[in-house]
Amino acid sequence: MQLYNSLTHQKETFKPRFGNDVSMYTCGPTVYHFAHIGNLRSYIMEDVLEKALRYEGYNVKRVMNITDVGHLASDADTGEDKMLKGAKRENKTVMQIAQFYTDAFFADCRKLNIKTPDVVEPATNCIDEYIDMIEKLLEKGYAYLAGGNIYFDTSKLNKYYVFNDHDEEDLAVGVRDDVEADDNKRNKADFVLWFTKSKFEDQALKWDSPWGVGYPGWHIECSCISKKHLGEYLDLHCGGIDNAFPHHTNEIDQSEAYLGHEWCSTWFHVHHLNTAGGKMSKSKGEFLTVSLLEEKGYNPLAYRLFCLQSHYRQNLVFSWENLDNAAGTYSKLVNRVAALKPDDSKQPNLEAAKPYQEKFLKALTNDLNTSLAITSVYDVLKARDLDSVTKLYLLGDFDRVLSLGLVEAAAKVRAANATATAKPAGSGEYTIAGPADASEEEAAKVTALLTARYEARKAKNWAESDRIRDELAAMGVVVKDSKDGAVWSRA
Ligand SMILES: [Zn+2]
Repeated sequence: MQLYNSLTHQKETFKPRFGNDVSMYTCGPTVYHFAHIGNLRSYIMEDVLEKALRYEGYNVKRVMNITDVGHLASDADTGEDKMLKGAKRENKTVMQIAQFYTDAFFADCRKLNIKTPDVVEPATNCIDEYIDMIEKLLEKGYAYLAGGNIYFDTSKLNKYYVFNDHDEEDLAVGVRDDVEADDNKRNKADFVLWFTKSKFEDQALKWDSPWGVGYPGWHIECSCISKKHLGEYLDLHCGGIDNAFPHHTNEIDQSEAYLGHEWCSTWFHVHHLNTAGGKMSKSKGEFLTVSLLEEKGYNPLAYRLFCLQSHYRQNLVFSWENLDNAAGTYSKLVNRVAALKPDDSKQPNLEAAKPYQEKFLKALTNDLNTSLAITSVYDVLKARDLDSVTKLYLLGDFDRVLSLGLVEAAAKVRAANATATAKPAGSGEYTIAGPADASEEEAAKVTALLTARYEARKAKNWAESDRIRDELAAMGVVVKDSKDGAVWSRA
């Protein structure tokens, strides 16, 4: 795998420290609100990376934290606690908010075919680990107590800014105090490891510590959770590019100061999803969630395809028009796969499949070139040297990484078509005709509904037959019944 490493600013051959085993860490969500589709772009691309490494033959152990404490409104440790803000907004407790939005996050992930990491650890589970690491940092002289809080002393490092080539003045913007300056800090870039004197007295979750009752800073959780489950060396750390500074920078400081050696060798950052108005956020413009896409009639996997069509290191511009294009491509792909005939009595031709798999892997191992990997799907569909069974085998094989669910979606279309052409039992022919320009998918859907309505009527299930009539009407389908069938058209 050739991967761009944000730490060295170049494409490198990815090499895990211990043979074939990859330790991979992902910064998880702060569970105070729904994830927007910009956040989810990162999780989609990280999912593809994990699956690509597995496809290449690595054993991957992936760990993700859930931030349910300590993340303040500004990443530079100022502003209100995000969890508390969410709890106030919804008149619930912080733990209720955490549970609700953790569940919502994984529900979104399932809809996007994002695999759940091997270990998911809520930040509030690891208080002892934070205290332990902070004590050691104090002992080693990398941390200090001021005004009741423990801070990391960035002046003790040889190098603080690691991810960018900008000068320090530019980057200082990233640690500016939006709300008010913290006079306890010795250096502008210093950050809080443990709060006992928060500006927010009503902070809901607090724990005993050697420095008084308080709560951890945000950055310390990833250093500790990673060490807890993946040990002292990390092969791969992932996150959105907006986490590179200050969050990931601070993670490196804490971990390396604590461990006394280099910690993580490769850093993978997914770039922004923008709208025409700029960077996507929860507070600006339309709040774009997976649920909103579904309400508007989009299959979430069309959004996954949209993300896969561009490179993770490029900013991607979201618009409804762009998503429409991806949705159109998705449904055309499903129909093309549906046209392939499965045959359980035949084996795929593995020899013929090989060059296609090699090309697919080559695209993925070229810094995760997902758009090129998708062209492999088209290559298979139009291949003259492959039979349908081998094509379906290959598409299923590629889906171990792409996870677009094309084979499953195609099977549903095929099943709907089969139901539609079958004669309903017992009562002669029931024919269904529709407009000639209807797409295969549209025709299959309407035919399946009309067949179900016919069965419901036969069973004198009028409620069901009315429900289906309404569903067809909502789709803009007009039905004309005849003695032995139905003809449909668009309103
Ligand atoms: Zn993190």
